[in-house]
Amino acid sequence: MNVILLGAPGAGKGTQATRLAEKYSIPHISTGDIFRENIKKQTPIGVVAKSYIDKGQLVPDEVTVEIVKQRLSQDDCKNGYLLDGFPRNLFQAEELDKFSTVEKVVNIDVDLTKLLKRITGRRVCPCGESYHVDFLNGKTTCAKCGAELYQRADDNEETVASRLSVYKNQTAPLIDYYEKAGKLLVIDGDKTIDEVFSEIVSKLG
Ligand code: ADP
Ligand code: ADP
Ligand code: ZN
Repeated sequence: MNVILLGAPGAGKGTQATRLAEKYSIPHISTGDIFRENIKKQTPIGVVAKSYIDKGQLVPDEVTVEIVKQRLSQDDCKNGYLLDGFPRNLFQAEELDKFSTVEKVVNIDVDLTKLLKRITGRRVCPCGESYHVDFLNGKTTCAKCGAELYQRADDNEETVASRLSVYKNQTAPLIDYYEKAGKLLVIDGDKTIDEVFSEIVSKLG
């Protein structure tokens, strides 16, 4: 099962991907997580990626496509994968079609006016889990692994404005691209996390 999770920043891709990866026993591959790991380790890719991520712009395609191509060629992707945050523009989608066959594209649809609150209230754990301050009741550690939660450097109002405009101009056209390919599943992302999860599972079959 080769699945893409599509959606605006803050739509709930990561939240659902963690759960789906567990349910279907396939790897969750997030390009954002891969970049953040590289930034932490100060690798050459991390240094390049940081300069774009801090401004809310896309990391150049040649870097991003190569990372995904290598990752999908690893053994654990043989029985399927969940791609979260890739592709993010038409070029990346076309490149992906050259080295892998995507079966389903789950578009998590959330009213754009709700995203700013979701993103600025997001708190994340190094283990990959994300939370929202509104539901943490003052807790500062991860319910799954106990590590200290933190706020992503790019989850601030200025950067979010740029990320949302990148989404509208470059990523949203992919909805049409995958609709035409007959692969698109549209999910109402404005419901609770559990309801969104159930809808995805029932539509994926
Ligand atoms: P993405 O990976 O698409 O950027 P996340 O999964 O990190 O999004 O979710 C963004 C924020 O919204 C997080 O704070 C998360 O806890 C919260 N969130 C995710 N899904 C929902 C939902 N269905 N309802 C309310 N808040 C949600
Ligand atoms: P979001 O919560 O906005 O969905 P991600 O963790 O997926 O955030 O991505 C964070 C940042 O990493 C993006 O704003 C972008 O700068 C960079 N990035 C992630 N995926 C890609 C991609 N496929 N192409 C280019 N840049 C990417
Ligand atoms: Zn954790």
